[in-house]
Amino acid sequence: MEYNLIIGGKEVKTDNMKKVFDKYSGEVIAEVSQADEKEVDDALNAAVKAKKVLADTPAHKRAEYIFKAVEIIKGKREFLGKLIAMEAGKPIKYALGEVDRCIENLTFAGEEAKRIHGETFPVDASKAGENRYGFYERFPIGVVVAISPFNFPLNLAAHKVGPAIAAGCPVILKPAGLTPLSGIELIKAFVEAGVPEGAVSVLAGSGSQVGEMLIKDKRVSKISFTGSREVGEHITKTAGLKKVTMELGSNSAVIVDEDVYDLGYAVKRCVLGAYYNQGQVCISVQRIYVHKNIYNEFLERFVSATEKQVIGNPLDEKIDVGPMISEAESIRVESWIDEAKNQGVNILTGGQREGVIYFPTVITDAEDSMRIVKDELFAPAVVIMPVDSFEEGVKRADNSAYGLQAGVFTKDVNKAINAFKNINVGGVMVNDIPSFRVDHMPYGGNKGSGLGREGAKFAIEDMTVLRACIFNFNM
Ligand code: NDP
Repeated sequence: MEYNLIIGGKEVKTDNMKKVFDKYSGEVIAEVSQADEKEVDDALNAAVKAKKVLADTPAHKRAEYIFKAVEIIKGKREFLGKLIAMEAGKPIKYALGEVDRCIENLTFAGEEAKRIHGETFPVDASKAGENRYGFYERFPIGVVVAISPFNFPLNLAAHKVGPAIAAGCPVILKPAGLTPLSGIELIKAFVEAGVPEGAVSVLAGSGSQVGEMLIKDKRVSKISFTGSREVGEHITKTAGLKKVTMELGSNSAVIVDEDVYDLGYAVKRCVLGAYYNQGQVCISVQRIYVHKNIYNEFLERFVSATEKQVIGNPLDEKIDVGPMISEAESIRVESWIDEAKNQGVNILTGGQREGVIYFPTVITDAEDSMRIVKDELFAPAVVIMPVDSFEEGVKRADNSAYGLQAGVFTKDVNKAINAFKNINVGGVMVNDIPSFRVDHMPYGGNKGSGLGREGAKFAIEDMTVLRACIFNFNM
């Protein structure tokens, strides 16, 4: 299969083609045109031209474009599921789940397109404002650059493209180099839905080249980035006077209290959160703090459930755990876990690599200072630690440079509120894992996870600027 770039709505083939591989079999699944300086410039010019047209497009029409794209994606559900399974190595049952989430996510963006409005404000709260009447409205911010990571190649791109069209902003997508196909399919759906010329582009190419050109360009008003902390910090420093949204990595913790409602349920959810998409999820379960009175039972059940995970080709419906995104990543995970082994941890199951596969791994007896506890491991491996009390769990869960989400399993509402107030993260899930997310919720992290905001309503707010208007009745 051959994939072209899309520039301002038109397909463009370039001489420089890059292969995209099936992450499990290593077979070539497509060749994709790569963008260079000219294509970046063309996409930016097309976007600039489309600014006024899109800004003048009425809300119901912008919503309609999005709803049409949704219908197109619905019609390609199975195809897109397979594409994600192959290009990202995501087990098919989860890949289809990602397509379903994309459909719902874009639907929320379409609905929110009709709810973008300002409000009045009491100008006469100031003495200088007597006899004046004021209100503000929201206007599209301008050209949006959307940069997405490999792990949810369709839905995370949709989290940016949907709100941009809803807000009336032209958008240029730069998908991850290893997984560009789903993003190109997403943009194709918008083109087929009839968005105005110039409104959407997708530029495949490397982050350090194409991404870099986009983030530096003065024609861009807003960068919406999801990816690693390192690249996020670099973009923040390089972007200059642009609005930036950063959705970065994390190292999510769960606390399981002795008064947990149902230990079996907690184990089942934690196993899912630890190994789902091979742990390559920004809110995957990495640290579990278990009350000492139930620690042994939790461990026994967790290890037994881990050993039941079915590993293999993501295209097989029975598979729970597939390949890492690349062998290099699998080797990196091996080296981190080997380092921890040398520092004295116990590996209760897993701890091995076979090519691109890293086996689901349970680690105990780790120290807080170890890399596998404090950094983002981003792998199908979890560290389980006993705590003397729920409160100790809260302190240790919060003791992280990151802060996307946390989970607590407890019957006690007071303890749940304590966790909510004292763990500095973007969201606390009570009686669930940090990996729970619905796509319209206010989502984003604190500390090293960035200060992003997603969920269509919030993303749209960040893709608009406020303009106030004050009428003077003093003459
Ligand atoms: P990266 O940061 O490596 O890449 C993300 C995107 O940035 C890719 O499209 C990449 O392109 C691009 N990029 C790289 N360098 C630059 C640059 N200099 N300028 C502009 N763009 C650049 O992340 P991964 O793809 O490896 O994704 C994994 C990370 O994403 C993890 O840390 C994970 O936690 C985080 N993440 C956060 C989420 C959240 O919502 N908070 C959700 C999902 C993931 P290329 O691929 O071509 O290098």
